Amino acid sequence: MTSLAQRLARPEILALEPYQTAYDENDRAQAIKLDANENPYTPLLTDSLAASVNRYPEPQPDRLLARLASLYQVDKRNIIVGRGADEAIELLIRAFCRPSEDAVLVCPPTFSYYETVAQIQGARVLQTPLNNDFSIQKDEIIAAGVSEENLKLIFLCSPMNPTGNSIPPEDILDICSKLTDSLIVLDEAYIEFSEQDSLSSHLPQTDNLVILRTLSKAYGLAGARCGCALAHPDVIDVLRRIMPPYPLSSLTEEAVMQAISPFMMPLANERVREILAQRERLMTSLPLAEDICDVYPSDANAIFVRVTDSDSFQQKMDRAGIKVRRRENVFKGGFRITVGTPAENDTLLSVLGVFKSAEKSRAAEKIRKTKETQIACRIDLDESGRIEIETGIGFFDHMLEQVARHGGFSLSLVCKGDLEIDAHHTLEDCMLTFGECLKSALGDKRGIGRFGFLLPMDETEAQVSLDLGGRPYSVFTGAFSATHIGAYPTEMTAHLFRSFADSLGASVHVSVRGENDHHKTEACFKALGRALRMAVRREGSDIPSTKGVL
Ligand code: PMP
Repeated sequence: MTSLAQRLARPEILALEPYQTAYDENDRAQAIKLDANENPYTPLLTDSLAASVNRYPEPQPDRLLARLASLYQVDKRNIIVGRGADEAIELLIRAFCRPSEDAVLVCPPTFSYYETVAQIQGARVLQTPLNNDFSIQKDEIIAAGVSEENLKLIFLCSPMNPTGNSIPPEDILDICSKLTDSLIVLDEAYIEFSEQDSLSSHLPQTDNLVILRTLSKAYGLAGARCGCALAHPDVIDVLRRIMPPYPLSSLTEEAVMQAISPFMMPLANERVREILAQRERLMTSLPLAEDICDVYPSDANAIFVRVTDSDSFQQKMDRAGIKVRRRENVFKGGFRITVGTPAENDTLLSVLGVFKSAEKSRAAEKIRKTKETQIACRIDLDESGRIEIETGIGFFDHMLEQVARHGGFSLSLVCKGDLEIDAHHTLEDCMLTFGECLKSALGDKRGIGRFGFLLPMDETEAQVSLDLGGRPYSVFTGAFSATHIGAYPTEMTAHLFRSFADSLGASVHVSVRGENDHHKTEACFKALGRALRMAVRREGSDIPSTKGVL
């Protein structure tokens, strides 16, 4: 019994002897490699990423497949990874469509590359256009599939490009269940911006479902060119037969492994959240613009609008140096606007005359990497409640959480440090990074309270007074009787406050007295949080210094 993939694939592809690469995963590390006409010298590049670029890369890097499998919640055997979702589209059409005979179905207006590749391959293109409200014509798609014998691939995009709306998952699954002799290619390039889950959990029981994913959008890796198809292993097997010998550069592999490592996930998720918050902001502001008559809801990182006068809107954007995508194939006046950074969106809204002097965002990121520690930190001073700390030292996590909770801001801080030596580097570097990140979130410090202080707490008395004036100074008065609290050495407390004062550029005075070392330490960090809450709070619009700068 042949599988669906084998029945649908072009017979000449199944008959093909796939190209054998020189890559051999077993003895690559030890071997003297004289088999691939490579240059034995590493390239003349300084970046450590380039270390092994003189060698051909692993065709389907196992570590990358493993990471993608975990990220997308599928088995490694369900994945083929290549140069963007674009390459997956090419492989699918080339592997399954015989020129002139086989057909693909698309639902315009949609991502135009499906049709471009089909035309290059000489495949027939059937079209089932979207309804006026951008929903798909499900029954027509099914009818086309039933009547067209050689319909190999049906491309559905959800969330859609350019319109931004989603296809209800039950409609997609219904099409899969009715058209079991076609592959349903569901392009989820923008799914990370949607509230809907990927349909990848349906792959095991849906052998005609193929899902496209990309790292270009949510993970900001468009220039690295990396994306994949998720499908039944037999489909993957067919695609691998026609894949070029080494589809991914080792530079891309390394960059992607870093950017999507579990370590970076808190920051990556924060960035998506920021884009969603900005999308929300544009959704409320754009309808107020005179140039714009309709704004369509979006589950992607772009918003589709209808403008009153395309040419004058285009000219306005051109004059302001803002690039937007004119999409009048959807309808007259159609434009797609990608969600940018808060500052870019400020400019867009100003040009459109609907910028409400939103206060400048006070969020910042810092990534710090040394041989001793790797730290990723993000702070948003104007939003509280999202706190995620993971340093490997439980008590310290608890302390930083106190600072953010009592400081009233969001803090994400993850550290992978050399704890096998001791806690020192991790603690110190975390506090330095925290201070640096806070400094950059404060920006020009316009409007802040600048000073903060706190008086006694609980049975322990801790006091932190603080000046964010730019000059580092640190005074710590207090003593501890225990050497450690969990894995946290108490002697580090004074040092941590100094590191923080140094990297933030603040005077930090701490004094503590009491009996219980856990309480005393916790009180110091809580008091720091409270002092920060007062000092970072925006109270006006002036720089709080007679010098005019801080
Ligand atoms: N699918 C859709 C719907 C897209 O909009 C795009 C790129 N704009 C892609 C796929 C291709 O993505 P990649 O960068 O992974 O090739």
